[in-house]
Amino acid sequence: MSCLFCKIADGSIPSTAVYKDELCYAFSDLHPQSPVHILIIPREHFASLDDTSAEDRDLLGHLLNTAALIARDKSLGKGYRVVINTGEDGGQTVDHLHLHLLGGRAHHWPPG
Ligand code: AMP
Ligand code: ZN
Repeated sequence: MSCLFCKIADGSIPSTAVYKDELCYAFSDLHPQSPVHILIIPREHFASLDDTSAEDRDLLGHLLNTAALIARDKSLGKGYRVVINTGEDGGQTVDHLHLHLLGGRAHHWPPG
């Protein structure tokens, strides 16, 4: 498996861990776009959100629950943003499903 985030999840490529359990792994983004910028990934490989289906709803819910858990742990009570870039037009650059948790500053709308 040549996937960067699969290697990060299994520890063969180093990262700064934030949270881990049997289903997912969360780590600091290498190029943070906000004071808090954490990536949450499933341990199972999915190329993108578009690679998931209804049978993955428990896992997808778990990823969102984990984002909220980490946001509370990081004291982001003022608010935060969760982003899933999907495909070329979505700006996805790593082809393993990941949630961005962004916080610690105001985020504007619409995004770029
Ligand atoms: P996306 O553009 O949504 O696919 O997001 C990919 C994210 O992965 C970007 O925010 C990158 O900064 C981040 N990234 C790429 N390589 C690494 C790495 N080795 N460790 C941590 N974050 C990474
Ligand atoms: Zn992968």
